[in-house]
Amino acid sequence: MGKYANIIVNISHENLDRTFQYQIPERLQGVLMVGDYVKIPFGKGNRTINGYVLEITDEAEYDPLKMKCVESIEKNNSLVEGRLIRLAKWMKETYGSTMITALKTVLPIKKEVKAKESRNIQLVMSQEDAGEQLALYEKKHQTARARLLAELIKEKNLDYKIVTQKLNIQSATIRLLEEQGVLKVEAKRVYRNTAHGELSYEKCILNEMQKKVADEIKADLDAGIHQTYLLKGVTGSGKTEVYMEVIEHVVRNGGQAIVLIPEIALTYQTVMRFYKRFGDRVSTLHSKLSDGERYDQFERAKKGEIDVMIGPRSALFTPFENLGIVIIDEEHETSYKSDSMPKYHARDVAEKLCELYGASLILGSATPSIEAYYRAKNGIYKLHELPARANGAQMARVEVVDLREELKRGNKSIFSGALKSGIEDRLTKGEQVMLFLNRRGYAGFISCRACGEAVKCPHCDVSLSRHINKKLVCHYCGYEQKEVTVCPHCGSTMIGEMKAGTEKIEELVKKSFPYAKVLRMDADTTKQKGGYETILSAFANREADILVGTQMIVKGHDFPYVTLVGILAADMSLNVGDYRCAERTFQLLTQAAGRAGRGNRAGEVVIQTYNPEHYSIVNAAKQNYESYYQEEMAYRSLMDYPPAGHMVAILIEGRDSKSAIDLSTYLAETIKNVILKDSTVRMIGPTDAAVRKINDIYRRILYLKSKDYERLTVIKDLIEAMLLEKSKEACRVTFDFDPLNGY
Ligand code: ADP
Ligand code: ZN
Ligand code: ZN
Repeated sequence: MGKYANIIVNISHENLDRTFQYQIPERLQGVLMVGDYVKIPFGKGNRTINGYVLEITDEAEYDPLKMKCVESIEKNNSLVEGRLIRLAKWMKETYGSTMITALKTVLPIKKEVKAKESRNIQLVMSQEDAGEQLALYEKKHQTARARLLAELIKEKNLDYKIVTQKLNIQSATIRLLEEQGVLKVEAKRVYRNTAHGELSYEKCILNEMQKKVADEIKADLDAGIHQTYLLKGVTGSGKTEVYMEVIEHVVRNGGQAIVLIPEIALTYQTVMRFYKRFGDRVSTLHSKLSDGERYDQFERAKKGEIDVMIGPRSALFTPFENLGIVIIDEEHETSYKSDSMPKYHARDVAEKLCELYGASLILGSATPSIEAYYRAKNGIYKLHELPARANGAQMARVEVVDLREELKRGNKSIFSGALKSGIEDRLTKGEQVMLFLNRRGYAGFISCRACGEAVKCPHCDVSLSRHINKKLVCHYCGYEQKEVTVCPHCGSTMIGEMKAGTEKIEELVKKSFPYAKVLRMDADTTKQKGGYETILSAFANREADILVGTQMIVKGHDFPYVTLVGILAADMSLNVGDYRCAERTFQLLTQAAGRAGRGNRAGEVVIQTYNPEHYSIVNAAKQNYESYYQEEMAYRSLMDYPPAGHMVAILIEGRDSKSAIDLSTYLAETIKNVILKDSTVRMIGPTDAAVRKINDIYRRILYLKSKDYERLTVIKDLIEAMLLEKSKEACRVTFDFDPLNGY
């Protein structure tokens, strides 16, 4: 109990990024809590604004007679928010953002929305009739109807929201089935799943390896040992089953679980597995939810109506009372890093969160990030491995095709001989093919089609990219050179920017295989709600023979009929001018290879590349993570890149180029003076960012490298303090620690 509240005001302005003290009126004493969202008078006149209570104390910071009073509590929070506030404070210090932005990240405050009455869908046909009806829908390729009915046959009752949001079935379809006398929609929830209720789930018996891992984690939990586990298991090794086993244990003991999965994997198949095991004590968050719906989910979690929250990185901030376990599946995914301030990584925030709660963390991946594996090797994480597929399926056979050889043989098409005959073979057998274009990023790199070399920066060992002014630029150090028309390595004139989009590939596939049915999945074709789901389930239902897509096709569904995966140009993700491109390439290739032959048919993978000797490609083809890791770490250590060292990218953005340049120069000068006597920090830049201008905002970038993360945060604090004094109206400065993407 205290008399004064230290409050941070809800205005994003660096000058206000501190607390203000207010008196707690008698009627609110003992009621007001840390984390509460309050209304307070602020400034002159009768103006009131909102703020968060960060601290309650008996010590007045200044004369209490001059102190204003807290007016009212807008939103009552609790101990749970207290914990999240501590997390916000840590995020502010670790990633460099204002306290208020950090708070807004962890405590989403949303307008109260009226609770909707929940509805329920019930099957009203006999099982037999329903079976016939289902066959009819399937015959007519009415996939949404079939999907809904199949689920109803299994479950008899389904929550309306689950059907529309998770199964991606439109209300119109439900209405139609109601009119056809298949189902009935009831306004009141008559059926309520509970964690151990009448679920249709047939628990699969864990195999010995899975059991060993689950047992060990459960035993640790029981013994009160909390740590981070890295579960390294090939695709299909049954990691998800292990997660569910551990979650069930936590839930049975009164705890809750957060499961992070990349947005693209948040599809019907995965989510349904959790629903089947945990019933409606499971909730999901995803980007298609409205603010109100998201807020609802958090409220339900707070009230104890949910045990398991599944979602992207923001699901970490679910206000559970008694969080026991956090799971991050596909831990290596870049979507776990936030791209707005604070630029946090879910892995690190989850670790901190677990520390605050006394919970444990499981990271899972077939291709762990270098960071995670490095920590596992150094004993910071506990490593567990699942080296074989759970259902006994064989790993795919991988063939690497050297595109330079193809060119020598006069084959200028995008399909090597091996890939072309592979596709023809699958088409005659009625099996399916996935063609994968691992294109990422922004700037075009220049490479030689004869020798495969990309033009690189002599200082940074990353590819140069072509700017609009035709110069080749390094966006790490600013090195510039003239455009080249002849390969500096072999003298060939077949040198240029690597460009080919999925649309183009689709067109070429259709031309080369006119009888094949082709689907395309990329950012364009998945824009609408349910876009992924529609394309993936159409492909799963074998409505097409070939699926062409970007990296988004490597996750999500199981496709038992896919027996060939073709990677058209592995180099596309290899030369993006970023120190992580080899890691990304290895991961993408390995994950893509994991898509082939998941059923009982053997799988084959063809990797086309100009760099068949590159360690990321060689090791992906051999599916040898360990050897890849060794080479990658050697490179990171040599260059002091994370995790061997740490980096912070300082991005300076301004409306006019001059003020951005001036500020970046000024910052660089100041930093130079600071690190003069500090040999542990190195500065690179300032230089134009790879993307020089976005929406007419001019961007400059500056990198600092150090083995010591602390040193970098100290300099960040210094810069922040300095910016407070300097007028900063014209420019915005943001920090990105251990960046995952180039700028
Ligand atoms: P991962 O998460 O590692 O990719 P999953 O948990 O999705 O693997 O399992 C892959 C497939 O193997 C799924 O269809 C799953 O139902 C099945 N599976 C997993 N564990 C077992 C098991 N112990 N026995 C039989 N099938 C299993
Ligand atoms: Zn060349
Ligand atoms: Zn460089």
